[in-house]
Amino acid sequence: MKESTDFDIVVVGGGIIGLASAYKITLSHPNIRIALLEKEGQLAVHQTGHNSGVIHSGLYYKPGSNKAKTCATGRKELVAFAKKYRIPYKICGKIIVATEEKELSNLETIFHNGKENNIEGIEKIGPDEIKQIEPFCSGIAGIRVSCTGIIDFTRVAKKLAELIEKKGQGNKVLTLHRVTGFDKHDFYTKVATNKGHFTAKYIINCAGLQSDRIARMDVVETRIRIVPFRGDYYELTEEAAEKVKNLIYPVPDPDFPFLGVHFTRKIDGKVECGPNAVFSFKREGYGKTDFSLKDSWDALTYPGLWKMFLKHWRYGLGEYKRAFSKKLFLQQLQRLIPSLGAGDIKPGNAGVRAQAVGPNGELIDDFRIERQRNSIHVLNAPSPAAAASLAIGDYVNQIATGYFKLR
Ligand SMILES: Cc1cc2nc3c(=O)[nH]c(=O)nc-3n(C[C@H](O)[C@H](O)[C@H](O)COP(=O)(O)OP(=O)(O)OC[C@H]3O[C@@H](n4cnc5c(N)ncnc54)[C@H](O)[C@@H]3O)c2cc1C
Repeated sequence: MKESTDFDIVVVGGGIIGLASAYKITLSHPNIRIALLEKEGQLAVHQTGHNSGVIHSGLYYKPGSNKAKTCATGRKELVAFAKKYRIPYKICGKIIVATEEKELSNLETIFHNGKENNIEGIEKIGPDEIKQIEPFCSGIAGIRVSCTGIIDFTRVAKKLAELIEKKGQGNKVLTLHRVTGFDKHDFYTKVATNKGHFTAKYIINCAGLQSDRIARMDVVETRIRIVPFRGDYYELTEEAAEKVKNLIYPVPDPDFPFLGVHFTRKIDGKVECGPNAVFSFKREGYGKTDFSLKDSWDALTYPGLWKMFLKHWRYGLGEYKRAFSKKLFLQQLQRLIPSLGAGDIKPGNAGVRAQAVGPNGELIDDFRIERQRNSIHVLNAPSPAAAASLAIGDYVNQIATGYFKLR
């Protein structure tokens, strides 16, 4: 018998945001039938499976922003979820380290934001305490954040998928289903995929690096565009890994929504350093020279991108040079751990961030979720969206409950 393709909701995208949203809707509306469609053969293979794996505390973000509102609550819920479902995680803490006088005022702002955002257990530390916590790290001042942790977000995503099917009434999480178009009718939408049509009353777009395209398919008037920023990592060799106990971060440049090249001891014990942030010519391209004509054309014909290049060309050039020069990358790492040598690092993974850029070249910092008649579009969900995912899922559920009048 042919399986039904009629659902109440179709969620596009099997990353952690689509999964957390479907999970939260299932918990509060178990009778709503959801199909989550993912184009790849596995869940979580893009941003969710290519990141630093850090459960961010929530201290960086502007008080009152969506990031600030969701990160700390999402983090606590994620930890409880991991505990309940036996997903390995570790609350190992981290330090943010200033190495130059000119970073001190930004460090102060971060500390202030952390206090305003009620982040528990943050404290200012000096050079001696930095050395006590991370003996190989040098800095003039820092912040210790004891509630930061590490986890494998792919495992979280897979558990969410299992629960969506188990707790719902006929919910489906389907891989190898690429959404290719929407045919809108008054009370339902016909969702075209490579595997035939689905019908749904409501659509939730959580397509990450493709989210602006899915929004345009749904005729959403969005003036922002997803610009892919690749982040390359190096990995410390087994001997050099002893130089990093847990997580060491620099003071980020406040003009950019990226946290800077940091050291992360991952849940598997390996130590990664990165990621940098370079414009990528392919949205889902993980190699340094990957290229897609469609993605490049889309990006380079967007005036906002050129405005962004003009504003930040110096930063962009520096990042590009570091992407192709191990020596320059190493110099950046040596600011935090001066004793690192070229033989201590080897090329590691890479990830691509879906960063929304506005028409004036502005890098959209905060999460952006928009609603139109029968759909919700997650248009910007960069870091710390994985850490905050369960709280973002609550927010999506709240919008869906209200506007779709779910019972
Ligand atoms: C290098 C890097 C480091 C990061 N570090 C951290 C960190 O330490 N902590 C943290 O909290 N966050 C971190 N982030 C951010 C975090 O990974 C993302 O915010 C989060 O994973 C976003 O999840 P998502 O579901 O929106 O996107 P994704 O995981 O990219 O999922 C979107 C999914 O949609 C699918 N899709 C797209 N188009 C279609 C279509 N037409 N049909 C069907 N499916 C489609 C894609 O295949 C993909 O699986 C990092 C990100 C990067 C790139």
